[in-house]
Amino acid sequence: MEYPKVKRNILLNPGPATTTDTVKYAQVVPDICPREKEFAQIMKDMGEDLVKIVHGDLDKYTAVLFTGSGTVNIDATISSLVPANKKILILNNGAYSGRGAEVCQYYGMDHINLELPIDRPIDVAKAEEALKADKDIAVVYCCHHETGTGVLNPIREIGAMAHKYNCTMIVDTTSTYAMIPIDMEKDNLDFVMASAQKGLMSMTGLSYVIGKTAILEASKDYPKRSYYTNLYQQYSFIRDKGEMHFTPPVQTIYATKQAIKEYWEVGEEAKWARHQRVWEALHKGLDELGFQDIIPREMQSRLVISVKYPDDPNWDFTKVHDYLYENGFTIYPGKVSDLPTFRLCSLGTIDVPDIEAFFAELRKALEKFNIQIPVQYK
Ligand SMILES: *Cc1c(COP(=O)(O)O)cnc(C)c1O
Repeated sequence: MEYPKVKRNILLNPGPATTTDTVKYAQVVPDICPREKEFAQIMKDMGEDLVKIVHGDLDKYTAVLFTGSGTVNIDATISSLVPANKKILILNNGAYSGRGAEVCQYYGMDHINLELPIDRPIDVAKAEEALKADKDIAVVYCCHHETGTGVLNPIREIGAMAHKYNCTMIVDTTSTYAMIPIDMEKDNLDFVMASAQKGLMSMTGLSYVIGKTAILEASKDYPKRSYYTNLYQQYSFIRDKGEMHFTPPVQTIYATKQAIKEYWEVGEEAKWARHQRVWEALHKGLDELGFQDIIPREMQSRLVISVKYPDDPNWDFTKVHDYLYENGFTIYPGKVSDLPTFRLCSLGTIDVPDIEAFFAELRKALEKFNIQIPVQYK
């Protein structure tokens, strides 16, 4: 069936990302009850693909799917994977790992919130000190890529250290999964997570945790701190019935099925190469206009750039944003504590020509609002 083309917006925000029309239209399907065998088969295949994307062995790792945005995974893993009388160590170097600490607070969980500088990767030695000091820590939690700043954390080293102290390693990979290659075994990970609207470039509403089946089984007897997001409850339901416990996001699952097909067609290496070339094009354009970024480039994920507001009396983020938005480009506010920044991201089905078109519009916006070019900093 032929469908009309959908207006193509270039999203430079950190997800949801620009999607293909084939993914958008994959949602248009005959009505189906998700308790049907046909749908269960789609879910089963999808679960296996989600494990394979992070090179997980299907005999050892399982995907647990949830309806919800990415935070549902943070909630589920933290509330479900800490044994009784044990603690979780949160390596907090940004807003997303900080969200993990908030989940602990909401559930009244015994946790250590190790606050680290947000403008650089986690110092593994600091994390080790914390582990050495407290024998009750059973789980280590961090974020792979702090989407607020664009800082990438050394998860392989952190995972190795967590395992040295016999801890379970949970990593929020929401903003790297299906973009930066991840390997469960080699990267020393027990649980990772993501959402369909980020790296897979699908629609919102589907999130998934990929983790060690043996630990999921063991978590049956762990304290239950949440109902809707209990990982064991969802895992065992999928294991026994092949269905999600509660209503799945049916249309998003069809879109994601198509998105996974397109992911395999492009391939892990080529996709990561594309994100990196978009990141380089973003830097090139920023450099040409004189914009400065916050995080040293070698520490950047290559997926998010935090850009400093110019010191120009005419600079007004909202005005620039609105002008760009009218022209099909979305830029995003920053999240580097109180620093006045905005973000440009290299997620989505976009490539270098889109970025060149973006900078042509950004230049027009700067001219329109009488912002000096190159932009000025004090
Ligand atoms: C997007 C994102 C999430 C999920 O945020 P939601 O608003 O719930 O979708 C979680 N962690 C990271 C690192 C993210 O980038």
